[in-house]
Amino acid sequence: MMIGLRLRNGCLVPTMVEERAQTEWEGTRFYTRYVGICGSDLQRMRLGSSVAYLGHEAVGMAEGMGPVVLNPNVACGTCEQCRSGMENLCSHERAYGTNVDGAFRGYLDVPEQNLKPLSACLPHFVLCDSLAVVMHAINLSQRFGSSSRHPIVLGDGNIARLLVFALNRRGLIPDVLTRTGKWPHQDLLEANSVGSYEDAGLDVEGKYDLLFECVGFSQARTLEASLRCTRPGASLFFLGCIQRLISCPYGCARFSSSSTGSMASDRFYARTLSRRLDRWSYILMSSRRLFR
Ligand SMILES: [Zn+2]
Ligand SMILES: [Zn+2]
Repeated sequence: MMIGLRLRNGCLVPTMVEERAQTEWEGTRFYTRYVGICGSDLQRMRLGSSVAYLGHEAVGMAEGMGPVVLNPNVACGTCEQCRSGMENLCSHERAYGTNVDGAFRGYLDVPEQNLKPLSACLPHFVLCDSLAVVMHAINLSQRFGSSSRHPIVLGDGNIARLLVFALNRRGLIPDVLTRTGKWPHQDLLEANSVGSYEDAGLDVEGKYDLLFECVGFSQARTLEASLRCTRPGASLFFLGCIQRLISCPYGCARFSSSSTGSMASDRFYARTLSRRLDRWSYILMSSRRLFR
């Protein structure tokens, strides 16, 4: 028996979990050590979830592998997107903590390719999931040919902070629109606050050709602000998750803009780990208060 945290009436309740033989997948047994709680989890706690155990940002120990970070998104490998190398957009995706029980159950059976070996079992590696989303979006923005040196970021949550962190490392200081109109992390992450996305003013209207939306929650308003502050033909990247259908207020077609969502792909877990997170870990560790 081990202790899990089960979602009940919007709360995570300690529960005794009996360890069973593998049922869901042919996979390697993963034992949870650390789990991150992100904005998507908070929405699932508030609005309801199809699984009893949340937890998709997880670090733990895998049998025969040692310390690992979980890539929670298991692609089918056979649909059209998977076959064309866009497994992050798989039509039949199964994701731990989303539509399969997640890491708060205490143990999981995971396909080996979804476990990425770590140098050590440390809590900051739970950021790998968010950082993979961020690096994927930056990579997409370059693939779309955007050479903007002056991007704008909407939001100041974990994803927005990691994005500003990654942009700073590329020598870029983005403008930011936040809920409060302030950027409270200036001592560690450089960004120019240009107001609040609730009432993005005339001085930002039609100004940007590269935008990253990192809010998701109540996205209808940030979508409107995104369209308002970008110029025709701009590239817009949506890193937040839309939880319900919304109607587009301006008609994107008029802008001939390119917009895309960013779900982390498996490749970016590997790249995040090998090239970035290890190198950046000391900064992330010293910035711990930024990523509570
Ligand atoms: Zn998350
Ligand atoms: Zn697929």
